[in-house]
Amino acid sequence: MYQLQVPILDRSTFTGVVVVEYAIDDLLRSSVPPDVSRRHLMSIVTDQEVALASTDQPSAAPTSRRASLVHDAVLTPAMNGLVLRGEGWRTSIGLIGNTLSWMVVALSILTLWMLLGAWRHMRRRAQIQNALLQETQFRRAMENSMLTGMRALDLDGRITYVNAAFCQMSGFSESELIGRMPPYPYWPPDRVEENQRLLQQEMQGRNPAGGIEVQLMRKDGSIFDARMYVSPLIGPKGQQTGWMTSMTNITEAKRIRDQLAASHERFTTVLEGLEASVSVLSVHQSELLFANRFYRLWFGNDATGHAQLIGSDPEGQFDELALDEADDMAGLSTHDLTEVKGDLREAYVESLGKWFEVRSRYLQWTDGRLAQMLIATDITARRRAEEQAAHQAEKAAVTSRLMTMGEMASSVAHELNQPLTAITNYCNGMLSRVSSDAMAKEDLVAALTKTARQAERAGQIIHRIRAFVKKSEPQRQPAQAKSIVEDAVELAGIELRRRNVAIRTYVAQRLPTLMVDPILIEQVVLNLLKNAAEAIDTAQMPASRRQIELRVVPRQAEKEGPVIEFSVVDSGPGLKDEVIARLYEAFFSTKAEGLGIGLSLCRSIVESHRGRMRAQNLYNGNSIVGCMFSFTLPVDPSDLPTTPTPP
Ligand code: ADP
Repeated sequence: MYQLQVPILDRSTFTGVVVVEYAIDDLLRSSVPPDVSRRHLMSIVTDQEVALASTDQPSAAPTSRRASLVHDAVLTPAMNGLVLRGEGWRTSIGLIGNTLSWMVVALSILTLWMLLGAWRHMRRRAQIQNALLQETQFRRAMENSMLTGMRALDLDGRITYVNAAFCQMSGFSESELIGRMPPYPYWPPDRVEENQRLLQQEMQGRNPAGGIEVQLMRKDGSIFDARMYVSPLIGPKGQQTGWMTSMTNITEAKRIRDQLAASHERFTTVLEGLEASVSVLSVHQSELLFANRFYRLWFGNDATGHAQLIGSDPEGQFDELALDEADDMAGLSTHDLTEVKGDLREAYVESLGKWFEVRSRYLQWTDGRLAQMLIATDITARRRAEEQAAHQAEKAAVTSRLMTMGEMASSVAHELNQPLTAITNYCNGMLSRVSSDAMAKEDLVAALTKTARQAERAGQIIHRIRAFVKKSEPQRQPAQAKSIVEDAVELAGIELRRRNVAIRTYVAQRLPTLMVDPILIEQVVLNLLKNAAEAIDTAQMPASRRQIELRVVPRQAEKEGPVIEFSVVDSGPGLKDEVIARLYEAFFSTKAEGLGIGLSLCRSIVESHRGRMRAQNLYNGNSIVGCMFSFTLPVDPSDLPTTPTPP
């Protein structure tokens, strides 16, 4: 029995107690729901562990009871140590529940393990994906940076891939190309058949190792040349899935090649068409490396002609030693040789009866060998013309001399008059003194000596004039500038005195000997002196300006080397511009009775001696105070042309 007593208070006055009594057994049985009591044993226990009541028979309970499944609750508010105890039955349901929970645990572990596996798998996958992405991007970058166009076809010829370079080359975008079947849009319409045939060949795997050259069309219709290389595309399982084609634009290369070929053709055409023989000979092997049409025509196909032209061997037997001897450049290194300028000479080839102007120079042949190139021009006709001209000039010189003397005849007569008068005077004087016996022997001898000297002088004048006028071949001989000047001044003296013009001469000391024709050079000097005197006289210059200076000095000329310069300076009116322009023109004269061949002749004489002639005005401020005519003559005799005479 369980009794609950509750005091009743009425305005703080204890009025009684409400007592409730529960039969403990019934309380347990009726208030524990059957659902709970079926699975649990509910009991009320004293503090001495004596069960006062329980939902089950006490006999069955103790064996199945387990301490771990007990829960106590103090029965309040009675503080009498009663406890409501619930105990779980250990039944077959419990066993099943246990297995289930174990299974849950096992499954959880399995799930965890699988999750871990999946996580690791995903991590690996992500890593691989990353690597793949990197690889793909690397390849893409490589493809995009490549100038070679790439195109993949499947086995039916459908385009499955094109790279950026291919698109750029063809002008079509990727989307316009992928999936296309032949004929492709970049095939020129007029070459579809040819391209079809090439594609067939390509798909059959019959591709030449050096690639195929094709013409393709850009989207804008322009054509370009390309070279294609094809290789089979192999799938992951080793089977062929298509073809990969790489393509390079060779338009530029082809253009350069064509240009090279054209330029080579032009080069050979020019060389072949040249009216000169061109030959290139390897210096060390004496092998003819190149010969043009004229060379072959004149000398055949061997090196004989080359040797003849350098003049190394008249028999035509070429040998290197002879080449060395024939050549001023023997002993120079290859580099120096090819640097030096070509050398020019004239050669007579007896077998052909022709004169050649031969220009030679060393060059490095295409294979690096040192070679000598000769360009020989046939100058036979020019030589003949030159000879004829020289002949003519010589005739003209004689004529001119005659004319000069003709002009000077009156002066000559005047000049001769002087010694003749002197002779007459001496003779008359002697006659009168001898006839009056008033002459000592010594006086007579002295007078006769003087007479003889005067006669000699007259004879000299005549002799010089004869020598000057006499037609003679130009003959080079050692000559002294000093004696040329003296003779010329003496001849001109007559004219100068007549025109009342003074002359001053200056000839430098110790001048080298000249190799010239002295009569011709005298004629040049005489002409210049005569012109100067005429200019001064005609312009009626005052006495202070009636003089000429003739100077002969050595000089170092830029091109010709050491020379002797003759200059005639006058203080006349100088040269007008229009006169300067036509100075050396034959028959140009400003004088009423002038012939105008003097200066042209002078120049040809000077130039035939390898000299140079110049004329210039002399100035004082802006006003002309006269003019200077000068000419040079080379002093080195070896410099003079030693022209061999043809037979
Ligand atoms: P010519 O004396 O017969 O006229 P040249 O050929 O000797 O023929 O001279 C041509 C021209 O050059 C002369 O007519 C003259 O006008 C001019 N000339 C030549 N020398 C001089 C000079 N020293 N001063 C001025 N003029 C000159």
